[in-house]
Amino acid sequence: MTLSEQLFDKAKNYIPGGVNSPVRAFRAVGGSPIFIKSAKGAYLYDEDGNTYIELINSWGPMILGHAHELVEKAVSDAIQKGFSFGAPTRREVEMAELICSIVPSVEKVRMVNSGTEATMSALRVARGYTGRDKMIKFEGNYHGHGDSFLIAAGSGAMTFGEPDSPGVTKGVANDTLTAPYNDLAAVQALVDANKGQIACIILEPVVGNMGLVKPVEGFLEGLRKICDEEGIVLIFDEVMTGFRLAKGGFQERCGVIPDMTTMGKIIGGGMPVGAYGGKKEIMDVVSPAGPVYQAGTLSGNPIAMAAGQAMLTHLSENPSVYTRLEEIGTTLTNGMKANMEKIGLNYTLNHVGSMFTLFFTDKPVNNFEDAKTSDTALFGRYFQAMLKRGIYLAPSQYEAMFLSTALTDEHIQTILDANLESLKEVV
Ligand code: PMP
Repeated sequence: MTLSEQLFDKAKNYIPGGVNSPVRAFRAVGGSPIFIKSAKGAYLYDEDGNTYIELINSWGPMILGHAHELVEKAVSDAIQKGFSFGAPTRREVEMAELICSIVPSVEKVRMVNSGTEATMSALRVARGYTGRDKMIKFEGNYHGHGDSFLIAAGSGAMTFGEPDSPGVTKGVANDTLTAPYNDLAAVQALVDANKGQIACIILEPVVGNMGLVKPVEGFLEGLRKICDEEGIVLIFDEVMTGFRLAKGGFQERCGVIPDMTTMGKIIGGGMPVGAYGGKKEIMDVVSPAGPVYQAGTLSGNPIAMAAGQAMLTHLSENPSVYTRLEEIGTTLTNGMKANMEKIGLNYTLNHVGSMFTLFFTDKPVNNFEDAKTSDTALFGRYFQAMLKRGIYLAPSQYEAMFLSTALTDEHIQTILDANLESLKEVV
């Protein structure tokens, strides 16, 4: 038995399913999860002394690779000054100013502790602002584990075949309307059938949580138009795409500006942080400026703010980060396509910037139904074949890979060699 296997066995006695977040259990890919001891740059090191080149990067935030010196220094400096005050600090103001200057839709912002809190709070604010109860979300999009969002949810909920969770009341479910991603006509039909009742439309502007799915041309523009016509708050959930697909998130890249934006993990450089922000007039309904209540003892935590500030300052001062992320993403995905051609495979590879997913289906993947045509058993074998060759992928077909600037051209070549060998082995 490996040390990771021993730890997992023990964990199952004390933690439900042995993990603190479901996808970590490797249930979708078979085998036992790898327990991580440490990470640096492009590498993960496990309890058994194995080294992996890493393509998850803590599900997104490690844009600069693990334990980047700048972030490390900011955190160790901040630790000298106390861990939490529950009172305002200079850094929170500087962080808010920084985020407002970077993200096009954000004029005011509130820090929270996770992506889940960010989306739950944004939804409450949209409801408070409009005085309406209903929300539209898209099948296969994941917005954290808030009750309202666990209807037709992606990510782990989809991986485990439970996109609608027990424990969510019928009342909550009734206020959540769902449409297929990339289907404007379906959204229009929901809006028409629920005139004057819809507070917000929330979506991942590029979806990472059913595997990577891009918005088709005109989809985001169409949503913007519907929201403008109907007085609906448009919320982009950029927890994964913010500061990654462009400095100002995918909204900067596509030019469609939502009314509100939710952010997460990246703005803490990997520390537990989230945030939601948007137009002043909307954000000013939040307490104590307005009547919509939302609070947090650890919100704006000084250590997390220090990490986030170091990370965001570096990203905003170094546009070369984004040039490099594009370059790595293009080289890697082109190489994977060339590998498939070499051995006569035609699987769908969706890619935007430094995020991508190889779907084990030859159908185009533009929504949840398309994603479900993937051969997930085959993905499981591919995952294990890559792991054996020292490449750590997201342990589910329904997730995106995230690249970091710590990857060198040599790493990319190593990943491509492993990809070719693994495909040959499992297909
Ligand atoms: N929104 C999106 C788009 C996400 O991908 C996630 C998690 N990956 C969340 C919200 C929830 O964030 P957290 O896990 O930090 O609660």
